[in-house]
Amino acid sequence: MAQVHPINAFNDNYIWAICEPHSQGTWVVDPGQSAPVMQFLREKNRQLKGILVTHHHWDHTDGIAEIRESFPDIPVYGPKDSPYLGITHPLVKGDSITIAGAQYNIIETPGHTLDHICYVNEARAFTGDTLFSGGCGRLFEGSAEQMWQSLSKLSELPDTCEVYCTHEYTLANLAFANAVEPDNTALKTYTVWATQQRAQNRPTLPSTIGKELAVNPFLRANSNAILRHLPESLATPTETTSQVFAKLRLWKDQF
Ligand SMILES: [Zn+2]
Repeated sequence: MAQVHPINAFNDNYIWAICEPHSQGTWVVDPGQSAPVMQFLREKNRQLKGILVTHHHWDHTDGIAEIRESFPDIPVYGPKDSPYLGITHPLVKGDSITIAGAQYNIIETPGHTLDHICYVNEARAFTGDTLFSGGCGRLFEGSAEQMWQSLSKLSELPDTCEVYCTHEYTLANLAFANAVEPDNTALKTYTVWATQQRAQNRPTLPSTIGKELAVNPFLRANSNAILRHLPESLATPTETTSQVFAKLRLWKDQF
């Protein structure tokens, strides 16, 4: 199976490098910067075969033009109808592509942006800014209902499926998660582990779907435990899970 390596970019972005096991072939996900990607390829003696884009934000796409000066013929996969215009191979839901010997299905996950897609299979999910460890992306373009539906699609993946998101936001997310569910023991254990990882400057990622279902309040909006700790200003009656999700998202924005 392909190995996946984090390439650090900006303050807290990871550009994931998917490395073919028996060749130099390498794919990168959301290269917001070119220099760290070029350095990775040089140091590891790897050959870039293509780029995957989850959504149009600059910190996911700004490195692409410069990378393509060195690799003009590689495909740039990404969402169809994206405001980012550098995509050479547009994708829609139901499409699948083969990357480093594994097939990835495309699911549309609007919420953070309207063009957001995730690349998923049973073993791995590249979730961009939709699902983070312990949290989810802000709602810049989509509605809470859309984001809840998007996260619900991801939560249907196997528990063992690894989650590769773009940001190392885990500790900040867990501070919020602990305010939402102070009695969640899985969350407490995970917070201790994540704190140790970051103290040693190690990534907390990849996570897994099973772990996120246990600790991430945004995947747990259908749990009664979530409602108990909502601040008074948000503790009005709710009818649907997506309404609970909307309140959580609002609370996190103010947290
Ligand atoms: Zn974004």
